[in-house]
Amino acid sequence: RLQQRVHGTVLEINLNALTHNYNFYKTLLKPSTKVMVMVKAFAYGGGAVEIANHLEQLRADYLAVAYSDEGIMLREAGIRLPIMVLNPVQESFGQLLAFNLEPVVYSPQFMRDLGLFCRHQQASIRIHLDLDTGMNRLGFKKEDLPQLIAMIQEFQELTIASVYTHLVGTDEDVHDDFSRMQLILFQAMAEEIAHSTGTQPFRHALNSGGIIRFPDYQFDMVRLGIGLYGVEVNGRYDTSLKSISSLKTTISQIKSIAPDESVGYGRKGILPKGGKIATIAIGYADGYDRRFSNGVGFVLIHGKKAPVVGNVCMDMCMVDVTDIDAQEGDEVIIYGPDISLKALANAIGTIPYELLTNISTRVKRVYY
Ligand code: PLP
Repeated sequence: RLQQRVHGTVLEINLNALTHNYNFYKTLLKPSTKVMVMVKAFAYGGGAVEIANHLEQLRADYLAVAYSDEGIMLREAGIRLPIMVLNPVQESFGQLLAFNLEPVVYSPQFMRDLGLFCRHQQASIRIHLDLDTGMNRLGFKKEDLPQLIAMIQEFQELTIASVYTHLVGTDEDVHDDFSRMQLILFQAMAEEIAHSTGTQPFRHALNSGGIIRFPDYQFDMVRLGIGLYGVEVNGRYDTSLKSISSLKTTISQIKSIAPDESVGYGRKGILPKGGKIATIAIGYADGYDRRFSNGVGFVLIHGKKAPVVGNVCMDMCMVDVTDIDAQEGDEVIIYGPDISLKALANAIGTIPYELLTNISTRVKRVYY
C-alpha cells in the first residue's frame, strides 16, 4: 500500500528509450566489445532493480555499482549478471563472497587484506584492478606495478577478472591529448601485468564520452553510464539519444499576487507588475535544487516555460503562471525530453549526473 502514489511528484522512466540508447551505443562498438552498464547510485536515479532487469533482457554483459549494498539489493531482486563493485570496503568482504559480487581492488593494502580474508575463508573471488593513469582517485599507479604483480602471484585466491582505467575528461575536446596519454599508459600497464603474470585479463577504459571520442580504444569492454540514461555529454550525438526520464509533478494551488506582495521564504519572490503563481509539489527534498530559486530554473506547464518565483522550499516551490492558462491539478514537467538537462545543470553550475542522482527516493519511479 505504501507503493501507492501519495506524493504528487513522479519520475517516469521510458524503458523503450533506454533500449534505443543501448542499441545506439552498440552501433558504435565492435561486435566483440562487451558492455558494462553503470547502475550505481540507483541507476543514475532511474531505479537500479528495474533498469538492471531490463539490461538483463537486453543482454548487457556486466553491471557496476559503487557499494556492496547496491549489489546486494540487485542480487536479492534476482539479478544474475556479473556485478563489479567500485568502492568496496573492508567490512563488506563477507558480503562480496556471499552475494557473488566482484570488487575493484585499488591499493596494495586493500589487496592484501582481501587476499588474506579469502585465504582464511578458503574461498576465491574475481577482482577488477583499477589502474590509475591520471585521475588520482583510486587505483594502482605505474610505480605500484612491481608490488601489484608480486601480490597477484602471491594471492592465488584472487582471480583477475579485468584491469581498467578511468579517463578524466571525455566531455571536452581540451582533454583529448591527456586522455590519449592515459589510454597509452593503461595499455602499457595492462601489458606489463599480462606479461609478468602469464594471464590475459580483460581490459576496459571507456565511459560514455570515451566511446564516442576514442573508438580505437574499446579494448574488451566499455563502461556505459550517462549516455544510456539519455544524456550525450559531448554534444556530438545529442539527437541520437532519447531522454529516458521525465520528472513530473502537479499544481497544488494557484493564486494572484499584487505588485507589493512577496512570495515564499525571505520575501525573495516579487512579481513587479503582479500576476499569478502556481505552487507545485516539488522541493529541494525531492532533489529539485534550491539553486533553481528566483528565476534560475523553470518548469513546463502546457508546453510553456514557467520560471521559479522566490526560493525553492523543502517540499514545494512557486512558479510564475501569469501568462499560462493553468489550473490546480495540472501536470508540471520539471525535467523531460523537451528540457535540456545540460542547460539546466549549467545554470546552477553543476552537471546532469548530479541532477539525475539527486532525485530523492520519495519520488515514485514509474516504468513504461
Ligand atoms: N567508469 C567509472 C569508473 C565511473 O566512475 C563512471 C561514472 O562515474 C563510469 C565509468 C561511467 O561514466 P559515464 O556516466 O560518464 O558514462
